[in-house]
Amino acid sequence: MFGCSDNKVYKIGVSQCSQDDWRMKMNDEINREIMFHEDAVVEIRSADDNNAKQIEDIRYFVDNDFDIIIVSPNEAAALTPIIKQTYENGVPIVIFDRNINGDSYTARIGVDDEGLGKSAAHYALHLLGSGAKAIEIYGLKGSTPAEGRHDGFLKEFETNGGVLVASEPGNWNKEDAIPVTDSLLRAYPDINLIYAHNDRMAIGASEVAERLGRNDIKIIGIDAAPNIGIQAVADSIIDATFLYPTEGHRLIKTALSILKNEPYDRETIIPVSSAVDLSNADILLRQNETLKEETQKMKILKAQIDDYWAQHSSQTSLFYASIAIIILLFGVGFLLLRAYWQRSRHQKELMAQNRLLEEERDKQKQLNEQLQDATQSKLMFFTNVSHDLRTPLTLIAEPVAQLASAENLTPQQHTLIRIADKNTRILQRLINQILDFRKYENGKLNLKLTEVDFNKTVHDWMESFYAIAKKRDIKLTLSASDPEHPLPIALDLEKIERVFFNLLSNAFKYTPDNGTITMSYECDGDTLIFRVADTGEGISERDLGNIFDRFFQVDRIHPKGSGIGLSLAKAFVELHGGTISVESTLNKGSVFTVSLPVTHVSGDVVCPEKAIGRNEVTAELDTIETNLSFDTEKPIVLIIDDNKDIQKLVGELLNDNYNIITATNGKDGVKMAAKYVPDLIICDVMMPVMDGMECCRHIKEEISTSHIPVLMLTACSMDEQRVQGYDSGADGYLSKPFNSAVLRSKCASLITNRKRVKELWQSHIAPHVKTGSEPSARKNIPTSDIDDEFYNRFLEIFKAEMGHSDLNVDKIASMLGLERSQFYRKIKALTNYAPVELIRRLRLQHGRVLLTTTNKTISEIAYETGFSTPAYFTKCYRDAYGETPSEVRSKLTK
Ligand code: ADP
Repeated sequence: MFGCSDNKVYKIGVSQCSQDDWRMKMNDEINREIMFHEDAVVEIRSADDNNAKQIEDIRYFVDNDFDIIIVSPNEAAALTPIIKQTYENGVPIVIFDRNINGDSYTARIGVDDEGLGKSAAHYALHLLGSGAKAIEIYGLKGSTPAEGRHDGFLKEFETNGGVLVASEPGNWNKEDAIPVTDSLLRAYPDINLIYAHNDRMAIGASEVAERLGRNDIKIIGIDAAPNIGIQAVADSIIDATFLYPTEGHRLIKTALSILKNEPYDRETIIPVSSAVDLSNADILLRQNETLKEETQKMKILKAQIDDYWAQHSSQTSLFYASIAIIILLFGVGFLLLRAYWQRSRHQKELMAQNRLLEEERDKQKQLNEQLQDATQSKLMFFTNVSHDLRTPLTLIAEPVAQLASAENLTPQQHTLIRIADKNTRILQRLINQILDFRKYENGKLNLKLTEVDFNKTVHDWMESFYAIAKKRDIKLTLSASDPEHPLPIALDLEKIERVFFNLLSNAFKYTPDNGTITMSYECDGDTLIFRVADTGEGISERDLGNIFDRFFQVDRIHPKGSGIGLSLAKAFVELHGGTISVESTLNKGSVFTVSLPVTHVSGDVVCPEKAIGRNEVTAELDTIETNLSFDTEKPIVLIIDDNKDIQKLVGELLNDNYNIITATNGKDGVKMAAKYVPDLIICDVMMPVMDGMECCRHIKEEISTSHIPVLMLTACSMDEQRVQGYDSGADGYLSKPFNSAVLRSKCASLITNRKRVKELWQSHIAPHVKTGSEPSARKNIPTSDIDDEFYNRFLEIFKAEMGHSDLNVDKIASMLGLERSQFYRKIKALTNYAPVELIRRLRLQHGRVLLTTTNKTISEIAYETGFSTPAYFTKCYRDAYGETPSEVRSKLTK
């Protein structure tokens, strides 16, 4: 029930059989005693002289887990079963005052009722002497105290000469006692004593005696309850009473001893005290009053103590709560402090990081400044160099331009001069652009406005582009809102022309053949807008934002310009107070829009000279045509380069000694190589579609082209690239810009090397070589695996088919998966023999082996080696070895 025995509070149930003064006194004593026991509580129930109610009360205590039950049974017979049952179920039972049948109880505290009866008899005899004649008002039939009181009285009374004439029950109460007394007094008028088992019945009897005028009769009661019995004595209503001891405190003590397993008496009979009569009644009453007062005081004290205790408890709770709050506050304080420490630590860290970042930023700034300085220096250097270049370039350009128009040049000289002319123009334009851009950046670019007719000007500009448009099948159109009327506007014509030229030449550069380029313009009086639209490759969204930045190029690997054009165009447009913008979709085309404010300057509309003519357009966009003759005696050189000018230049340089064929990218190069099987391939590394490395790898892996020496040509002279070049099978390497003599000698040496290899083959295959070895034993010939494999396959086919005199080149070529011309060139390139000749030589070589090592007849050998007749075999043999087969045989037999 309780977790800890120290805190155990015992529940004591007290079942009183009735509720009279005596029992009230006892209850007071019980309640007083319980005040001294913190570990016990008590509940008192009264059965009001009713057996059934008392049984119910006992059950109530059992059901509510009372630890012990103290019972004063109303009637022994009626209460014994329930008490016995409860006791046997383990609930301690203390019987007091009255008894039960049997001894099913833990302890019993009884009063010596017989002793009481005896004392009463003794006192009566003392009053009346031996002539005492008494009637008895009996308590209750079956009540043990009544029986005791009766027996003790009778024994003592009659022994000492008294006579008890009658005894009738008054049921312990006054109301019942009155009629009983009345009838007894009437029946026995000579009695001089009434003995009542309690004071209430004695008072009733006294009233009857009084009424009947029998004041002489002595009346004795029992119980001596202060307010009834003792008061009645004091008031002379009755003569004496006997203290029936209550001793409520004893009940509680016994009960607690039982519960705490302390020693106790199972049977306790409280001894009887002396009579209360007129001599001591007052004192007892006063004592009782005092006791009551003391009890009252005690109650007050107890209440105060309880109060204090409650206060103490609440203060204790408050104290603990305060301590808890203080601890909590400390905790919170500690947490706050820790958070503060952490925050300040973080702040310190952040500050340190910030400092680092600031240092980093400062460094970055410094680096940026350095970079800017470096860029500025670089640009300055460019500018200076450009300045320095401009004069010599003009001095070159002029004579070159004059030479280009000279008439006494050979076609080859003419082509070379035109290449020089074109490229000096490109250089001049570039240098001008750089210088203009620097001027713009330094704020030194000024506008020289003149009033022009834009309609006419644009027509003039467009003229320069029609030829190249026609050549490349590009539809070039001009669309104007009002082309008929003059459109006067003040422009720095040279600059706007450059803008126009840049936009249009870009459109040509980035639009494939058969595309469309449209120049359109409109003017609303305030603004002139012109657009250059193309159906070219377009610009990705990512690059669109950078297109006007200086030196920006979408394709940095295969640039088609310098990346300065658009930034300069923007600068020129902005100088005019206008804007330039672009819209573009990848693979669909681009539209560049220039919008210029319409202003005017005084003076007439001028018609200035065009600054950019057809030659400039050609230089920028066109290639120079050459007509090279094809000479079957000369080796073929294939030039693979996306830059047509380089193609032409290399071609011109080699034209004297070689046949030149060209391809503009690796893929076409591979096709051309397979088709023509050239003697040398010159291949650029950086190319669109398929780069030089891959191209070279393809060439070296293809049977028909694997033997062809490849010379790589590149602008990059990094070792890594060379290694890559050699890895892909290149035979030589030449970096741009190259010296024409070096190019020529490299080409020559590669071709000579190749020739040497061929000669080695030739000497191996040649019938007059007297090694006697198989033609396939070509140990010292530097060949590639592919070439070896090719030649071995050829030999296998040859051996298997040798006996057929109709074995022809076409058949072997198709068995090797090659076209006749490819096969021819391959065999020729490898062995320096034409296939037919090689086959004949191999036949003869085999015939010679058979002649010298077997006994076969000459005709057998002739047929076996595929000669149509023995005579033809003999002829060929003599031509090759200078002797006839029969001469060989006769020499052997000697
Ligand atoms: P560049 O002088 O090299 O032509 P620009 O400044 O004129 O340089 O152009 C910068 C880049 O913008 C070019 O490299 C090209 O990639 C891109 N570009 C310019 N015009 C066009 C166009 N019409 N179509 C596609 N790309 C263009």
